[in-house]
Parts: sequence; C-alpha cells; structure tokens
Amino acid sequence: MPHPPTPAVKDIFMTMAYGPAPENDTEAQQWLKAHQRRFGPFINGTFGTPARGFATTNPATGKRLATLSRATQADVNAAVCAARSAAPSWAALSGHARARHLYALARLIQKHARLFAVLETLDNGKPIRESRDIDIPLAHRHFYYHAGMAQLMPSTLPDRQPIGVCGQIIPWNFPLLMLAWKVAPALATGNTVVLKPSEETSLTALLFAEICQQAALPAGVLNIITGPGAVGESLITHKGIDKIAFTGSTAVGRRIRALSAGAGKALTLELGGKSPYIVFEDADLDSAIEGLVDAIWFNQGEVCCAGSRLLVQESIAAAFEHRLRQRMNRLRTGNPLDKCIDVGALISARQLQKITALVDSCDAGSVFHAACALPARGYFYPPTLISGVPPSHPLMHEEIFGPVLVSTTFRTPAEAIALANNTRYGLAASVWSENINLALDTAQRLAAGVVWVNASNLFDAAAGFGGIRESGFGREGGWEGLKAYTKPADARVAQVAQVMPIARPAKTRPQAARALDRTAKLYIGGRQQRPDGGYSRAIYGADGALLGHVPVANRKDIRNAVEAARAGAQWAALSGHARAQVLYYIAENLSARAAEFAQCLDRMTGGSGGAREVEAAIEVIFTYAAWADKFDGQVHETPMRGMALAVREPVGIIGAFCADEVPLLGLVGAMMPALAMGNRVVLLASTPYPLAAVEFYQVLDTSDLPAGSVALLTGCHRALAAVLAGHRDVDAVWHFSHADIGKRIETASTSNLKRTWVDRAALTDWYRPCARDFLEAASEVKNIWIPYGE
Ligand code: NAP
Ligand code: MG
Repeated sequence: MPHPPTPAVKDIFMTMAYGPAPENDTEAQQWLKAHQRRFGPFINGTFGTPARGFATTNPATGKRLATLSRATQADVNAAVCAARSAAPSWAALSGHARARHLYALARLIQKHARLFAVLETLDNGKPIRESRDIDIPLAHRHFYYHAGMAQLMPSTLPDRQPIGVCGQIIPWNFPLLMLAWKVAPALATGNTVVLKPSEETSLTALLFAEICQQAALPAGVLNIITGPGAVGESLITHKGIDKIAFTGSTAVGRRIRALSAGAGKALTLELGGKSPYIVFEDADLDSAIEGLVDAIWFNQGEVCCAGSRLLVQESIAAAFEHRLRQRMNRLRTGNPLDKCIDVGALISARQLQKITALVDSCDAGSVFHAACALPARGYFYPPTLISGVPPSHPLMHEEIFGPVLVSTTFRTPAEAIALANNTRYGLAASVWSENINLALDTAQRLAAGVVWVNASNLFDAAAGFGGIRESGFGREGGWEGLKAYTKPADARVAQVAQVMPIARPAKTRPQAARALDRTAKLYIGGRQQRPDGGYSRAIYGADGALLGHVPVANRKDIRNAVEAARAGAQWAALSGHARAQVLYYIAENLSARAAEFAQCLDRMTGGSGGAREVEAAIEVIFTYAAWADKFDGQVHETPMRGMALAVREPVGIIGAFCADEVPLLGLVGAMMPALAMGNRVVLLASTPYPLAAVEFYQVLDTSDLPAGSVALLTGCHRALAAVLAGHRDVDAVWHFSHADIGKRIETASTSNLKRTWVDRAALTDWYRPCARDFLEAASEVKNIWIPYGE
C-alpha cells in the first residue's frame, strides 16, 4: 500500500493533526519466529512439541500470529501431575526463598516490558498505550507485591498453609494481567499452578513461561496448557486439583460452580458486571467526562468492571450528554500499535457480531456512534452511546462487553442508588460529586465490591478486586486475595461421631409430655409461627422420655423466613457498638436461664455436659460481641494520591444448617458471627437435638433484637438444603451438620451464585472456633477508592 504523502511540519503546526506513531513490532515478531510460530504446552518446566492446534490471530488485521496446541486429556493429566509433584518442595521452601523467585519474575517482566506490551497488543487488539502503561506495569507490580507477601507469610499468616494445586482459568481481555492476578498470590503462598489462558490470547502467557525458565523457577511449579473452553473444563474437573480460580463470564462461572459442586475444591469466581457510573449535578463535569472515557472506552469496553451504565442527574443530563458526544467524536479508533490511538480492535469477529447485534436490538431511545473512521480490516466498532432506554430494558442489564455506553437519568440520590443497585451484578461503581458527604454516603450504599469516588478503573495489587451477587465471590489482590490461596495449617479433623435422633422407644405407649404440651413453633420475623405443613416431630430424651414436639419446616416456611429477614434490614444499619450491646444482652439473658438450658441439653443428649455447653455458648456470644466493633477494615497503601478504604460489610442474608452434636453451642456459634457483622440469619437447628434451639427464641425475644434478624427453624436438613441454597434472596449458605448435603447446597447455589461454606462438620471445633474465619465468612470487603488533591 503506498504511504500517504508526509505533511510538511509547517502544515502540521497549522492543523495540529495527529500523525501516525506506530510502535515497532520487530522484536515481538522475531520472538514468534524463534518459536517457528508454533507452541506446545508448557509442562514441568519445558515446552512440549507443538501438536494439533489452532491459530491465534491479530484482531486488528485478522492475520495469524501463531499456532497453539490444543491440550489433550493426556496434557492436562501431565500438567496436573507435574504441579502435584512440585507442590511439596515448593511449599516447603522458606517464605524468603519463594520471595526471591517472585522477585526474579517481577524483574524479568519489567525487563521485557516492551516485548510483553507489543505482544499483548498484537494478540488482543488493545491500544499499545494501554498495554504499555497499564497492563504490563500492573502485572509486574503484582509480582513485586506478592514477592513481599511470600517474604512476610511466615510471620503474618503463621497458622495458614498452601491449598495445593491450583487450576486457573483466565479470559482474553487482560491476558498477562489476569495471569499475574492469579499466579502471583498462588505461588507466593506455596501453591503450584496449572493455568489455561483464553484460546484467543495465550501468547503473553507463553512468553511468561519462558520467563519462568529464565528465572529458574523449579519445574512443575507453573504449567500452562492452551486450548478452548473444553480444555478448561477438563482442568477444573480433574481430581488432582485442590483449588479453582476462574475469571470470565457469569455463564461459564455458573457452569464451573455446578461442575465442581461436592468436589471439596476451593473456588473463587471473578465474573461479569454492568457497573453504574453515577454523575451528580455538582460533579466536576470535565473530570467526569474524562473519567467516563476511561470507564467505558478503556480496552474497547471489554472490561468486566467497565462503567457501562451512565446514571446522570436530570438537571445536567442534556449538557453532560452534549459534552460527551463532542468528546466521543474526538476519540481515535484504529491501529492498536499506534501510540496515539484511544480505541483499538475488538477481540474477535464473534465479539464484533455480538456487540453489533446487541446495539441493533435497541428498539427504544437513541443510538449515537462517534464520528470516527474505522480501519477497513480488523474487528473495529465505534464508541457508542445509547440513551433514553427504560431501566427495565435488556440493554440496561445485559453485559455488552464492548465500547457501548447505555445512559439514563435520575432525580434524587435515593433514585440514583435504586437504579444503580437494580442489577443482578455487583462488581464496581463510580460516583462523581464534589460534595464529599454525598459521594461517600452513596459509595456506602452501592451494592458493589469496588467503588471509585471521582475516578474509574483504578487497580492495584494492594487493594482487593472482586464482586458480589452474580459478579462472583472472592477477591484478587490484598490480604483477602492472598488468604484465598491458603487453608488452616492445622486442618485438624475434629473426629466427632455423627449423632442420630433418638428413636421412639419400642414397646412403650406414647408418653405424655411433661406437665404441659411442649409443642414448639418456628420463630420467624420475631414471632412464633406454626409450620406451614402442620407437621411436627416427637423428640425423645436419651432415657426414652418424650420431651416435646418440634415443627417440621417446609419450603414455604423457608420462604417466609427469608422474606422476614429481607424486611429486617435495620439490623445491618446499626453500628458495631449497637450490635455488640444486643449480643451482650443475649448472653446475659442466656446466663439467667443457664440451668434450664443445661437441663434441656442433658435430657436430650443423655450426657452431663449441658452446663459446660451453656457456659461455652455464653463465652462465644461474648467473643463475637467483642468483635462486632473491632473486625474493621483497612486503609490500603496503593500508589495513588488518596485513600483506598477496605470496608467490611455484611454479606446480607445467611442461611445455616447448624451442628448436630452441640445443639446450643453450634446454634449460637453460627448465629453470633453472622449477627456481629450485621447479617440476618435463617438457622436450621440440630436435627437430633432441636429443643435447645426452639427455646432459644425466648432469649432472643427479651434481648432487643429487631424482628427478622434471626429465624429459628427445625426440619430435615436434606429436604431443605436445595430450597435454602436455591433461594435467590439468600446471599450465603453455611453447612455444619453431618447431613450429606454439601453437594446439594453448592449445586443449588448457582441460582444467584451465592457464597457457600459447606461440609464443616468435622472441621469445626465449637469449643475453640476460629472466630476470624467465621467473621470473614460473615463479611464482604468493599474497596472504596478516594483520590484527593486539587
Ligand atoms: P468466558 O467465555 O467465560 O471465558 C473465560 C475463560 O474460561 C477462557 O479461558 C475460556 O476459554 C474458558 N472457558 C470457556 N468455557 C469454559 C468451560 N466450560 N469450562 C472451563 N473454562 C471455560 O469469558 P470471556 O468471554 O473470555 O471473557 C469475558 C468475561 O470475563 C466477561 O463477562 C467479563 O466481565 C469477565 N471478566 C471478569 C473479570 C473479573 O475480575 N471479575 C475480569 C475480566 C473479565 P476460551 O476463551 O479459550 O474459550
Ligand atoms: Mg489473538
């Protein structure tokens, strides 16, 4: 193609037009050539022979860059086997020895930063400006940060150990950065890894493999297999994997949750989003426009936390949109290797078709495309603004994952929050206002894992990133992210024998209950309620005496309990101090009735440990009352002028299947950490010994606990597992009973991708619980970024 005539410098000064400023890709092409543009999997420290494969292309030109091997089942087995064999000695290294390895990786990424950036841009289509200034610097920052974490782990997490072999799956939008987010914390904590990058963008992962060779990382510590989603599936279903870490779409995340249910593998899911970008009328509009450019046109909008829903206050909406359109018209779309390009190529023809179809489906409102010339070849789409669609429109809810912004207006802060939270996702949000009170109040009310105040798309290794609701669970970065790659060092199994309900004694007439009929009720919404089904179960003491009857809850009772809990949101709004007072009051009231509860426990169990159990229950309540105003957040040290606040928030509504063998201690042991952190709880009491629970309502009733904060139910754990775990208004489910329902819970949890904590019966010592583990399960960390300065 003939080059256009070069304009004279004098003419450029007159027009100030951008000239072409292409980055040289010679080094990257040479690296590909050195590998004959063919790559095998990286297993046990060496590249395998390239096998039957698939092409990876440059989306800006459609040209093939290289052919990658499609991993076979034998490759997956070999990679997992290599990771398994390498695990013991890697875990046995000192923190300092691992820190040196991570430091070497950080240095080598930094040293080869330009090669990584160019290769990333070639393979993914993102502007070189972004891969050079954002992706790669954040990737080596992540390795530096985690070199430090490896160094500090023995002293900061002395009671934790690595989980084992991690199967990690990452998407194509930030290939090397997502690798860094997954690999660095896994290796720092002593795990080994098998990673599958997206088939669209595996090249920087393979370059990273080469870097691992250069850094003399022990063979097998990091393995990379390439191939499509099916390869990912054989990895995560492999028996040799102890932990799955996935970043990608909500649909695939849901499938992974279902496939891994009951397998006992740790799981974190970083999924999609439809994040709100809220502009109040008192915002600095020029900054808000520039922030919006970063929010939605960074990486062509192919960003999980893209600010893809603009909510702008009605009073300024017309003026804001006018400025926005002007700014959009100045965005430069084109050759991603050009240093003056703002918007590059989409990842694939398929993604281009998907975005085009979604925008074409806009049957309400108006569609505005930026006036930019698009290259004739490659997968390009212009920056686009859709306005005037109603809040219920699919375009307001579906993740478009492209350079398309959907906008609407609001009148009051309350309406802004309601609109912002009207989504099944909960990944990120931006708030723009010069009024610090309004901005921080809004940040606190938004349902999201990350909130940026007067900013967007800020990331750092020191601040956890991740979402709530259908954006998944778990955090990457910071202490939370690190801990997700560890487990308790003394994963001691408290060998508690399963206790069975005491059967009705043979050959005796049904006995009259004690003096009065002791037919207990369910406790829902602060009131005693009869079970919907009208059934109850007789409870016999160890001596065969009939002690009373307990209700058998069914699906409708669960529904009523969750509804009451949803209405009881005032508990979450109380301060930690206020919650602590209520908890102490519960302890005081239990103490007043200690003898009665002890006697009830002894009669049910036939033992004599009732008094000890009651005392332990009172102490546990004190422990969590103490924590209620102390399990606080952090201010992270990020390279930003400002503050990144990690705030602890309640998870929401937690359902729990309580321990069998310590009916009172197990009940309060689950209830109190949840309450301390501001959650509401729906508790299924011990099956063999439910009476202590049904009588506990009297203690709650006299303790100023708001109605709806706690529901006490009795019923069959097996029958109710899928009901509670499948309920879309429940945010987490815990399982401490011996009922074999872990798999059911995890399977049903896919409904809204709730957090689960299952099969804890043998792992929990109720007399010596690890309070921190419970408090972490009972809370979400929200990172609020607040840059400052004039
Ligand atoms: P995707 O289709 O879910 O793919 C993600 C990864 O999973 C890829 O490596 C993919 O392989 C693999 N995969 C596909 N099907 C699989 C299966 N059945 N079992 C195991 N692995 C499977 O997502 P994507 O379209 O590549 O990425 C975009 C999505 O990722 C968006 O929804 C975005 O919001 C989300 N995302 C989230 C975050 C976060 O931190 N929350 C960050 C970035 C992206 P192939 O690509 O080879 O098919
Ligand atoms: Mg590619």
